[in-house]
Amino acid sequence: MSWEIVIGLETHVQLSTKSKIFSGSSTAFGAAPNTQANLVDMALPGSLPVMNREAVAKAIAFGLAIGAKVAPLSVFARKHYFYPDLPKNYQISQYELPVVVGGKLSFFVGEEEKTINLTRAHLEEDAGKSLHDDFTGPLGELSTGIDLNRTGTPLLEIVTEPELRSAAEAVAYARALHGLVVWLGICDGNMQEGSFRVDANVSVRRQGDTEFGTRTEIKNVNSFRFLERAILFEARRQIELIEDGGTVVQETRLYDEAKDETRSMRSKEDAHDYRYFPCPDLPPLVISADWMDKVRNEMPELPAARRARYESDLGLSAYHAAQLTLSRPVADYFEQIVAEAGKDQAKQAANWVMGEVMASLNRDELDIVQCPVTPAQLAKLFARISDNTISNKIARDVFQAMWAGENGADVDAIIEAKGLKQISDSGAISAMIDEVIAANAAIVEEYRSGKQKAFNSLVGQVMKAAKGKANPAQVNELLKQKLG
Ligand code: ADP
Ligand code: MG
Repeated sequence: MSWEIVIGLETHVQLSTKSKIFSGSSTAFGAAPNTQANLVDMALPGSLPVMNREAVAKAIAFGLAIGAKVAPLSVFARKHYFYPDLPKNYQISQYELPVVVGGKLSFFVGEEEKTINLTRAHLEEDAGKSLHDDFTGPLGELSTGIDLNRTGTPLLEIVTEPELRSAAEAVAYARALHGLVVWLGICDGNMQEGSFRVDANVSVRRQGDTEFGTRTEIKNVNSFRFLERAILFEARRQIELIEDGGTVVQETRLYDEAKDETRSMRSKEDAHDYRYFPCPDLPPLVISADWMDKVRNEMPELPAARRARYESDLGLSAYHAAQLTLSRPVADYFEQIVAEAGKDQAKQAANWVMGEVMASLNRDELDIVQCPVTPAQLAKLFARISDNTISNKIARDVFQAMWAGENGADVDAIIEAKGLKQISDSGAISAMIDEVIAANAAIVEEYRSGKQKAFNSLVGQVMKAAKGKANPAQVNELLKQKLG
């Protein structure tokens, strides 16, 4: 019996404003505990929240970017629960009337494109942080402390419809969403610091069932790898449970990275447990058409627009165009190469950025903005491929030498110093071919009896004799001639 996994994600995106959503304290990360918590954040009686317009502008930008409805009027609500790091005993969030309604996000899962509907995105404040175990109290005792620096940090919670069908799809969506919010400049995207946290709702059902199964919610996953693992573990756990005659209980679970498993945290609250009601301290949030226009005019060119441009203008495949526009710095890097090398080099540039450049960045754990090889250097490398000075294969060696800073990281100096210049002298190539033919009578015989593979093997031998430097097109042509 085969099973289908159903996933909906709720993502907490920390909006990169200077001050908090309802108070003037700083949101900077890493300050000493409680140095960025004022009267409002500490919830002293009589203190009142004031809406941060920057946070709203960032929510508007998100709504416009995903083609959602930006609500002209939305309402803040109190969501009640007790927890030591929540001094008001309620969180200001949005409930019935969120600021962003609907919208879509498209992304590639492998080579296949998928579009997911978003339910909503709402503004809310973050809670503080409990410091367990590692916290030493005023008398030197081990205890639990509360750091309210994060209290009131603006969050945009982005909710999908339950339309994701595998861990890989969930990760592809999360990556695309991460790329988009960073692209828009509304979030710094730093997952280690908690700027982008994903809750995964997971259920399973038998293939062909029309009703959804009971879901569990895995809270606060802060890496793409852990998101994938947590979903895979949780889906397997649910399937085994049902196959053994059990039933899934709706609950909140925690993913333990060290053990690679999820475990129960608390039974899931229903909405009525939170006693939501409109927050009387804040007026309804009114967004005028003018405000929306202003935000729209200040938005950068969106990934979708760039993607379309790369396809129509530069002739890239939909897949390449989508992958390059997952991150703005990557797209910018690609465009700079094209600007230097010319549009006819766009496909070459796409292949290199997504191949050699990305692989090398991953290997050295560098970000694209730290890439040691500049777009101009790559453009020059391409010119040496185009004018037949080097082959594509040798170009990779030259690239790595540039990466390592050899010979002043200059393309021509590296080719010269390493003797990598392609052999295009037909006399020299011809001599090498003769030697290979003479030494491989059996393979030549196979070729003549119709085996194409034998030809490739001979080409390989000639390239080997030339240490990879012979012009491959020339080798092919001359060899064919000589074999008759
Ligand atoms: P709540 O109000 O309890 O948070 P929602 O109905 O808002 O619940 O849904 C929260 C998330 O759970 C959404 O992303 C939604 O797509 C997802 N979801 C709802 N039902 C299921 C299900 N049966 N399986 C997987 N995900 C689900
Ligand atoms: Mg929810």
